[in-house]
Amino acid sequence: MRLIADERIILENPTQIIRAIGAIDNFFKIVGVTDIVNVSIHDLVDVAFLDIEQNETKKVMSGGALVGYMLIREYKTQWEYIEFLIVRDSLLMENDKIVHGLARYNSFGIASVGREDTKKNMLFAYLAVIHEMGHIYGLPAKDRLDQDLVKVLGNHCPNDCVMFPNNMCMNKIDIINNPFCNQCLSDLRKYFGK
Ligand SMILES: [Zn+2]
Ligand SMILES: [Zn+2]
Repeated sequence: MRLIADERIILENPTQIIRAIGAIDNFFKIVGVTDIVNVSIHDLVDVAFLDIEQNETKKVMSGGALVGYMLIREYKTQWEYIEFLIVRDSLLMENDKIVHGLARYNSFGIASVGREDTKKNMLFAYLAVIHEMGHIYGLPAKDRLDQDLVKVLGNHCPNDCVMFPNNMCMNKIDIINNPFCNQCLSDLRKYFGK
Protein backbone atom coordinates (compact mmCIF):
# COMPACT_ATOMS: atom_id res chain seq x y z
CA MET A 1 0.00 0.00 0.00
CA ARG A 2 1.17 3.50 -0.81
CA LEU A 3 0.42 6.51 1.36
CA ILE A 4 -0.01 9.85 -0.37
CA ALA A 5 -0.64 13.08 1.49
CA ASP A 6 -2.05 16.53 0.86
CA GLU A 7 1.19 18.55 0.60
CA ARG A 8 -0.16 21.17 3.00
CA ILE A 9 0.10 18.62 5.81
CA ILE A 10 3.88 18.40 5.49
CA LEU A 11 4.14 22.17 5.92
CA GLU A 12 1.68 22.52 8.76
CA ASN A 13 1.82 19.32 10.75
CA PRO A 14 4.10 16.62 9.34
CA THR A 15 3.68 14.27 12.32
CA GLN A 16 0.16 13.59 11.02
CA ILE A 17 1.76 11.71 8.14
CA ILE A 18 3.81 9.59 10.54
CA ARG A 19 0.69 8.89 12.58
CA ALA A 20 -1.28 7.82 9.50
CA ILE A 21 1.52 5.42 8.57
CA GLY A 22 1.44 4.13 12.15
CA ALA A 23 -2.32 3.56 11.96
CA ILE A 24 -2.02 1.63 8.68
CA ASP A 25 0.85 -0.40 10.11
CA ASN A 26 -1.25 -1.17 13.16
CA PHE A 27 -4.10 -2.33 10.92
CA PHE A 28 -1.81 -4.84 9.20
CA LYS A 29 -0.55 -5.98 12.61
CA ILE A 30 -4.08 -6.45 14.00
CA VAL A 31 -5.05 -8.51 10.95
CA GLY A 32 -1.77 -10.44 11.21
CA VAL A 33 -0.55 -9.83 7.67
CA THR A 34 2.67 -7.86 8.12
CA ASP A 35 4.48 -10.70 6.34
CA ILE A 36 2.59 -10.10 3.08
CA VAL A 37 1.70 -6.41 2.94
CA ASN A 38 3.20 -3.13 4.11
CA VAL A 39 2.88 0.61 3.63
CA SER A 40 5.31 3.28 2.52
CA ILE A 41 5.11 7.03 2.08
CA HIS A 42 4.92 7.55 -1.65
CA ASP A 43 4.05 11.10 -2.60
CA LEU A 44 2.87 14.53 -1.59
CA VAL A 45 0.09 15.84 -3.80
CA ASP A 46 -1.52 19.19 -4.50
CA VAL A 47 -5.24 18.74 -3.92
CA ALA A 48 -5.99 22.32 -2.86
CA PHE A 49 -8.08 22.78 -6.03
CA LEU A 50 -10.62 20.37 -4.54
CA ASP A 51 -11.31 22.63 -1.54
CA ILE A 52 -14.79 24.01 -1.07
CA GLU A 53 -15.04 27.10 1.03
CA GLN A 54 -18.09 27.01 3.29
CA ASN A 55 -17.19 30.19 5.13
CA GLU A 56 -13.97 31.96 6.06
CA THR A 57 -12.82 29.50 8.68
CA LYS A 58 -14.54 26.29 7.71
CA LYS A 59 -13.31 24.52 4.65
CA VAL A 60 -14.25 21.12 3.38
CA MET A 61 -13.09 19.20 0.35
CA SER A 62 -15.30 17.82 -2.37
CA GLY A 63 -15.72 14.10 -1.64
CA GLY A 64 -17.00 13.37 -5.14
CA ALA A 65 -14.10 15.18 -6.81
CA LEU A 66 -11.57 13.39 -4.58
CA VAL A 67 -13.05 10.05 -5.64
CA GLY A 68 -12.53 11.08 -9.27
CA TYR A 69 -8.98 12.18 -8.48
CA MET A 70 -8.14 8.83 -6.90
CA LEU A 71 -9.72 6.87 -9.76
CA ILE A 72 -7.57 8.77 -12.27
CA ARG A 73 -4.44 8.03 -10.22
CA GLU A 74 -5.43 4.39 -10.12
CA TYR A 75 -5.86 4.32 -13.90
CA LYS A 76 -2.46 5.97 -14.38
CA THR A 77 -0.69 3.49 -12.13
CA GLN A 78 -2.45 0.61 -13.91
CA TRP A 79 -4.15 -0.61 -10.72
CA GLU A 80 -0.80 -1.75 -9.42
CA TYR A 81 -1.11 -0.26 -5.94
CA ILE A 82 -3.78 0.47 -3.40
CA GLU A 83 -3.30 4.10 -2.41
CA PHE A 84 -4.36 5.79 0.79
CA LEU A 85 -4.68 9.58 0.70
CA ILE A 86 -4.67 11.73 3.79
CA VAL A 87 -6.10 15.23 3.59
CA ARG A 88 -6.54 18.01 6.14
CA ASP A 89 -10.22 18.77 5.97
CA SER A 90 -13.45 16.80 6.07
CA LEU A 91 -15.17 15.69 2.90
CA LEU A 92 -18.49 17.07 1.71
CA MET A 93 -20.48 14.39 -0.10
CA GLU A 94 -23.14 14.83 -2.77
CA ASN A 95 -25.91 14.12 -0.25
CA ASP A 96 -24.59 17.12 1.79
CA LYS A 97 -23.19 14.81 4.48
CA ILE A 98 -19.78 15.63 5.88
CA VAL A 99 -17.54 12.61 6.47
CA HIS A 100 -14.02 11.97 7.82
CA GLY A 101 -13.16 9.40 5.21
CA LEU A 102 -14.26 7.16 2.41
CA ALA A 103 -12.99 4.12 0.58
CA ARG A 104 -13.59 1.83 -2.37
CA TYR A 105 -13.16 -1.91 -2.14
CA ASN A 106 -9.76 -3.08 -3.37
CA SER A 107 -9.08 0.36 -4.71
CA PHE A 108 -8.28 3.32 -2.46
CA GLY A 109 -8.98 5.04 0.84
CA ILE A 110 -9.13 8.67 1.94
CA ALA A 111 -9.06 9.99 5.51
CA SER A 112 -9.07 13.51 6.87
CA VAL A 113 -6.67 14.20 9.72
CA GLY A 114 -7.82 17.69 10.74
CA ARG A 115 -5.73 20.82 11.00
CA GLU A 116 -4.98 21.00 14.67
CA ASP A 117 -2.79 18.73 16.68
CA THR A 118 -5.48 18.01 19.24
CA LYS A 119 -6.19 14.70 20.94
CA LYS A 120 -9.67 14.69 19.40
CA ASN A 121 -8.31 15.11 15.87
CA MET A 122 -5.67 12.45 16.48
CA LEU A 123 -8.31 9.98 17.64
CA PHE A 124 -10.71 10.75 14.76
CA ALA A 125 -7.90 10.48 12.21
CA TYR A 126 -6.78 7.14 13.63
CA LEU A 127 -10.33 5.74 13.64
CA ALA A 128 -10.97 7.04 10.11
CA VAL A 129 -7.83 5.30 8.80
CA ILE A 130 -8.64 1.97 10.49
CA HIS A 131 -12.31 2.12 9.40
CA GLU A 132 -11.50 2.96 5.77
CA MET A 133 -8.81 0.27 5.69
CA GLY A 134 -11.57 -2.16 6.68
CA HIS A 135 -13.68 -1.05 3.69
CA ILE A 136 -10.71 -1.29 1.30
CA TYR A 137 -10.17 -4.90 2.33
CA GLY A 138 -13.78 -5.93 1.93
CA LEU A 139 -15.79 -5.05 5.06
CA PRO A 140 -18.56 -5.74 5.56
CA ALA A 141 -18.03 -9.00 3.69
CA LYS A 142 -20.27 -9.76 0.70
CA ASP A 143 -22.17 -12.54 2.49
CA ARG A 144 -23.33 -10.04 5.14
CA LEU A 145 -24.67 -7.41 2.75
CA ASP A 146 -28.19 -8.86 2.69
CA GLN A 147 -28.51 -8.75 6.49
CA ASP A 148 -31.08 -6.13 7.49
CA LEU A 149 -28.94 -4.41 10.14
CA VAL A 150 -25.96 -4.20 7.81
CA LYS A 151 -28.22 -2.62 5.15
CA VAL A 152 -29.84 -0.19 7.57
CA LEU A 153 -26.39 1.06 8.60
CA GLY A 154 -25.41 1.74 4.96
CA ASN A 155 -23.19 -1.33 4.59
CA HIS A 156 -21.62 -1.16 8.02
CA CYS A 157 -21.23 -3.60 10.89
CA PRO A 158 -23.91 -3.63 13.63
CA ASN A 159 -21.56 -5.15 16.26
CA ASP A 160 -19.28 -3.40 18.76
CA CYS A 161 -16.75 -2.70 16.05
CA VAL A 162 -14.80 0.07 14.35
CA MET A 163 -16.91 -0.72 11.25
CA PHE A 164 -20.02 0.61 12.99
CA PRO A 165 -20.80 4.01 11.40
CA ASN A 166 -19.69 7.37 12.82
CA ASN A 167 -17.28 6.28 15.55
CA MET A 168 -20.33 5.45 17.66
CA CYS A 169 -18.72 2.40 19.21
CA MET A 170 -15.36 3.81 20.12
CA ASN A 171 -16.03 3.71 23.85
CA LYS A 172 -16.92 0.03 23.70
CA ILE A 173 -13.89 -1.28 21.86
CA ASP A 174 -10.14 -1.54 22.33
CA ILE A 175 -9.25 0.71 19.40
CA ILE A 176 -5.53 -0.09 19.47
CA ASN A 177 -5.44 -3.86 19.94
CA ASN A 178 -8.87 -5.10 18.97
CA PRO A 179 -10.97 -2.58 17.03
CA PHE A 180 -12.79 -5.14 14.87
CA CYS A 181 -15.51 -7.53 16.02
CA ASN A 182 -14.77 -11.24 15.59
CA GLN A 183 -16.82 -11.43 12.39
CA CYS A 184 -15.02 -8.51 10.69
CA LEU A 185 -11.59 -9.69 11.84
CA SER A 186 -12.17 -13.16 10.49
CA ASP A 187 -13.48 -11.72 7.16
CA LEU A 188 -10.34 -9.56 6.89
CA ARG A 189 -8.12 -12.58 7.49
CA LYS A 190 -10.06 -14.49 4.83
CA TYR A 191 -9.45 -11.65 2.34
CA PHE A 192 -5.71 -12.10 2.88
CA GLY A 193 -5.99 -15.89 2.72
CA LYS A 194 -5.17 -16.40 6.41
ZN1 LIG B 1 -17.75 3.29 6.50
ZN1 LIG C 1 -17.58 -5.74 12.75
